[in-house]
Amino acid sequence: MHEPLVEVNHLKKYFPVKAGLLNRTVAHVRAVDDISFAIQPGETFGLVGESGSGKSTVGRTILRLTDKTEGEIRFKGKDLYRVSKEEMRRLRPQMQLIFQDPYSSLNPRVRVGDAIGEALIDHGMASRDEIRDVVEELLVSCGLSSYHYYRFPHEFSGGQRQRIGIARALALSPDLIVADEPVSALDVSIQAQIINLFRKLQDSRGLTYLFISHDLSVVEHLCSRIGVMYLGSMMEVASRDELFRNPLHPYTKALLSAVPVPIPKLKRERIVLKGDIPNPSNPPQGCKFHTRCPFVKEICTQQVPEFRDAGAGHYVACHLV
Ligand code: SF4
Repeated sequence: MHEPLVEVNHLKKYFPVKAGLLNRTVAHVRAVDDISFAIQPGETFGLVGESGSGKSTVGRTILRLTDKTEGEIRFKGKDLYRVSKEEMRRLRPQMQLIFQDPYSSLNPRVRVGDAIGEALIDHGMASRDEIRDVVEELLVSCGLSSYHYYRFPHEFSGGQRQRIGIARALALSPDLIVADEPVSALDVSIQAQIINLFRKLQDSRGLTYLFISHDLSVVEHLCSRIGVMYLGSMMEVASRDELFRNPLHPYTKALLSAVPVPIPKLKRERIVLKGDIPNPSNPPQGCKFHTRCPFVKEICTQQVPEFRDAGAGHYVACHLV
């Protein structure tokens, strides 16, 4: 096995909650609470969970868009929180983010070609003379046309704007793309086209993806391994096939039971979770899922289940497994 492209070890990210006249810290939101996983070069690792599970914070912490509280993040073997500023400047273009809504990050008065090309100029990766050719090629490889270079963001549909977002992320030839809910705002038919584009670009450019989504059916189509997060903790990690065939954690089972399947006899019995996701500044003791788990036992309310290998790289945190 290769050295992982990304290694996350015991990562924690807590956000302070301030209150009172003196604006004192009265609590912490434990957005990410001691999680570990690795992403191999060329793979697509899916991170799923409900809103508030901490999955987006993991992506942003890996890219150093927000600082960690504790733990270690390695990219190509280098500890991203210990490298020099110079080294970080060299590594930063190799990791790019794709947003759910690329429109909000595009200046409405800047032509799309210029918006994609500006990063290339900033990093000295192409001269002004070369920019047009490089950007036009990027547009075409993302399913747009070279004449789109001169158009403004408002002239594009949602799917086309996401193609622009992808082209812009690819401009600096990154190795890692963190895609945060990149298809959630799109119609189902357009979602399929964008997922196919992700796959095609991965084959042609050898990209590695961290694909963040609340939707298991989207992740199923693209990811080779999947991690399931709940309230800042990793509940289960397994290969896509293993997770869908043999989910071990009750939370994963509940999420999977809501995924539509094309063949009725393969339909899983629906598990409806009671209650809402608890407040992450005051998570339940023991297993964080115990307030909603249909299989809760007494031990679950007292002891945090260990995240351990249940065999063949299938990791799970549950007292029943
Ligand atoms: Fe449910 Fe207990 Fe397993 Fe948590 S540890 S998922 S509460 S059975």
